[in-house]
Amino acid sequence: MPSIHRLPQSLINKIAAGEVIERPASVVKELVENSLDAGARRIDVSIRAGGNELIRVVDDGGGIPADEFTLAVASHATSKIGSSDDLFRVRTLGFRGEALASIAEVSRLTLRSRTADADSGAELEVVGGDVGQMVPCGCPVGTRIEVQNLFFNTPVRRKFLRTTATEFGHISEALTRLALAAPEVHFALRHNDRQVFELPGGAGLLDRIGRFFGRDVADKMIWVQSEDGPVHVSGYVGHPDHTRSNNRLQYVLLNGRHIRDRSLQHALGEAYRGLIMTGRYPIAVLWIEMPVEMVDVNVHPTKLEVRFQESGRLYSQLLSTLRTRFLSTDLTTRVPSESTEDAPGAAHDEGRTAQLRQELVDWAKGETASWSPADAQSDRTSEILAGLQSARRQDGPLDLRPLDRSWEAAGRSRRREGGFPTEAPPPDHEGQGRSAPGSVAADQPAPDARVEPIPRAMQIHNRYLITESEDGVLVVDQHALHERILYEQLRERIDGGQIETQRLLVPEPVDLSPSEAASVVENAELLRELGVAVEPFGGDTVLVSGYPAMLANMRPDEVLRALVEQLLASGQSPERSALLDELLHTIACKAAIKAGDRLSPAEVDALLEQRHLIDNAHHCPHGRPTALVFTREALDKQFRRV
Ligand code: ADP
Ligand code: MG
Repeated sequence: MPSIHRLPQSLINKIAAGEVIERPASVVKELVENSLDAGARRIDVSIRAGGNELIRVVDDGGGIPADEFTLAVASHATSKIGSSDDLFRVRTLGFRGEALASIAEVSRLTLRSRTADADSGAELEVVGGDVGQMVPCGCPVGTRIEVQNLFFNTPVRRKFLRTTATEFGHISEALTRLALAAPEVHFALRHNDRQVFELPGGAGLLDRIGRFFGRDVADKMIWVQSEDGPVHVSGYVGHPDHTRSNNRLQYVLLNGRHIRDRSLQHALGEAYRGLIMTGRYPIAVLWIEMPVEMVDVNVHPTKLEVRFQESGRLYSQLLSTLRTRFLSTDLTTRVPSESTEDAPGAAHDEGRTAQLRQELVDWAKGETASWSPADAQSDRTSEILAGLQSARRQDGPLDLRPLDRSWEAAGRSRRREGGFPTEAPPPDHEGQGRSAPGSVAADQPAPDARVEPIPRAMQIHNRYLITESEDGVLVVDQHALHERILYEQLRERIDGGQIETQRLLVPEPVDLSPSEAASVVENAELLRELGVAVEPFGGDTVLVSGYPAMLANMRPDEVLRALVEQLLASGQSPERSALLDELLHTIACKAAIKAGDRLSPAEVDALLEQRHLIDNAHHCPHGRPTALVFTREALDKQFRRV
């Protein structure tokens, strides 16, 4: 084995460069971060051949004094921290003093800069770590850095580079993250002399979101904001209609720095649980501001991951911020969407008009079918609806929430522009929603009287309920809605204490597979909390001696089997809350009226009436919408009345 020896500095630098500079996008990130740290208001990025040939970043920031040029490109030289204490109070994006040195080590780097108090600027070239002579030059205040022939002296690194398009994609993504964190700064990106984007500074975060993700997405983004002591969360989250198949459009910006944090991503997913389909991800641009002492950013070479002092508390804050917001927001899916209306020629689309007309004819046909004699109604559905109504009359934990339409009012006054999150936030919805009903309170009759008449509604194809809403025609999926109502009721009962157990006169034996039986016995306590009383009966048989009173329309073995499925799916140590939620979904789905169940007019009305008693009526627990709105405006347009 060779003897131990010190590595030459240039090799050390190349190893260090590998950690920070992985691909052209890393260069762009480091250079633009430096520009932001230097207080730039405008940053122009030009790229040639995916960054292989050239990366040029020009800013109008404070500039570098000529006598500090060589330090700027030396490793571990920084103007941003001075002592180890500073390390735990990092306010700037950079602080390691490594980026310029690393880049210069593996490319031909030209630095040109001028400070405001200097008469002229200077230029310095570094090729593969060899620092050249500084020469004076005329240039505006600010800094211009050109990086050419990246990785020319590290062929291995070069080999790992992907196609021009892929590398440029990474560059564009890196710049997107930086631009979402700094909406006050003007950004421009050019590739091979073609302008890719130009983002005016100060137009607000929503403008930027619109330019990156599309106007239709931005228009439906939901503003969120909250404070927990010194921790401030704000930003925009996507409408459940706009989801993606991965979480790449979830941006978390901590004190102006883009980070990835699993726990926060999880909180985001939890907040949308039940509002979007499983396997889909919401869009989000969230700003978190907190005192720098509360977070350690020095745990990852590119600072992508950070460590929070109180990560659990931040998790809860984010989750409750979003949940609270959704409860006061109208998340109904609108048909057709605005984007269709905006499309060129859409208003004259004969096909769509014809289709819509056919749908209206279908509704009309459905009407005759649904108003047939009431004796056609199914016993089971009336039983369930009767159950729902009796639950409403009871006191205690079984009670439903009071009739509250504030979320609808809030929804109507929705869609407002917000500035970027450090500006004064837009007036929040809660205030809006509450003030509207309050101003007419004097005109209302007795407080407990049903304030609004039940809308006339009809059932079509034994599965959809059609009714008139404030702003158009509402098409409700009867199963999805009923499922949501049951789910909310179950949830509420569980939140308000234990589920009421109905003891069975004769306990029912249920035969299971060995693993199912074992899992049931193991989780007997958890099942008891859900209102299911089980005990071992020998072999793979368990005895169900009690089950939730509210599930009187399901057989005990059906209930148990639904639970067992979930227990097994969730593996060794099921997390109580997630399991509970899954169980509630399953139970609600099984117990709800089905598509195909004929409902009497009274049942239709009863079901629709329940819609207003729950907070989350707009989506079923599986994330499908419970209702679609055909706005009157859109109908008028389609029929060319306007
Ligand atoms: P760090 O950003 O971690 O300090 P860098 O190697 O990225 O390390 O930069 C070294 C130093 O060069 C910075 O601390 C800063 O003083 C100076 N610098 C680099 N880029 C710029 C710029 N665009 N404008 C002004 N100063 C800059
Ligand atoms: Mg830096």
